[in-house]
Amino acid sequence: MTKSDVIRDIEVKVIELPLKKQWKIALYAAKTRPHAVVRIRTENGVVGYGEVSPSPAFMGETGYTAELAINKYLAQAIRGADIYDLETIHAKMNSAIYGNYAAKSAVDIAIHDCIGKTLGVPVYKLLGGAARKSAELSWVVGMQDVEGSIAEAKHYVGLGYKVIKIKVGISPEQDYRVVKGIREALGDAVALRLDANQGYDFRTAVEVFSRIEQFNLESIEQPVRRWDIEGMKYVRSRLKTPIMADESVSSLHEVMTVIREQAADLVNLKVGKVGGLHIAKKIAAALEIAGMTATAGSNLEVGIGSAASVHFVLSADNLSVPHDMMIGGPLHEYDLITSGLTVTNGMVSCSEAPGLGVEVDDTAIFDKAGR
Ligand SMILES: [Mg+2]
Repeated sequence: MTKSDVIRDIEVKVIELPLKKQWKIALYAAKTRPHAVVRIRTENGVVGYGEVSPSPAFMGETGYTAELAINKYLAQAIRGADIYDLETIHAKMNSAIYGNYAAKSAVDIAIHDCIGKTLGVPVYKLLGGAARKSAELSWVVGMQDVEGSIAEAKHYVGLGYKVIKIKVGISPEQDYRVVKGIREALGDAVALRLDANQGYDFRTAVEVFSRIEQFNLESIEQPVRRWDIEGMKYVRSRLKTPIMADESVSSLHEVMTVIREQAADLVNLKVGKVGGLHIAKKIAAALEIAGMTATAGSNLEVGIGSAASVHFVLSADNLSVPHDMMIGGPLHEYDLITSGLTVTNGMVSCSEAPGLGVEVDDTAIFDKAGR
């Protein structure tokens, strides 16, 4: 460490990226998404990037609240900090403002990019090194009519994806029709995961999914409200399909409740949801100790945020369940990176370049006047 490895500038910009078609889940529907992009510069002149795109209904944050939290609270708390002191940096951010984990994730990711570029190594090597060289992906079919859902699922299976996740949780009848339709269209070789995004109460969830699990499901994600740990336990006890917690594990300490209560079989562990790479690694370790595996999902981040997830997954052995972490790029009209991630036959790998290894289209973000 030299004096020059301290944080000098922290900038944040919100970009509203249009989606190719409406994105609908049990919690909300949207046609555009605000992404907060962070650019951190060290005294040494090294520049690192972070990105998050939380939805308000999912996390209580958006790109705009992340911008506010960073500009008014986080930036001044960590300016002058040594980039290697991640424990201290997270403590300072938590002292500056409670929660706001997406905002903290964007900063944490940018700092990891700075560290990697300073040391000349890819981020996954900072996180423990390669547990795997590439990671298997799942594709997520958002809510739409049954025909559209089947066509989208078929398209991605044709590209090599072996796991299709289906958004459910508003209408039991529609859930049944779409799962039946996709299973019949794809046959038995493809795994089907459902995500209800908290859509049902525990009694309804048992009724709905008891009927649907005949279609052979890999897992059912967040069947009940995020706070209803008892309800999730109840659902888990009544179904044969494994239950995955997503919204119920939105920060470091919440994972302990799920583990202690044995409320879920699996966790969807998103870097942009829990506070960044440093925190995601701690949660992965807690799950490993509990003998649990996890998947890395997405808040529809584009290239910078997705790259952070890929580096995390490559470094964590128990992040072994196929991941939705790459859906943001294809769902948006355009991306914020020009290179750095390779998707082939349903597998993703990252560049060996230092940091996140992505080429950021800086002119589209920071050098454009206004937004
Ligand atoms: Mg989910």
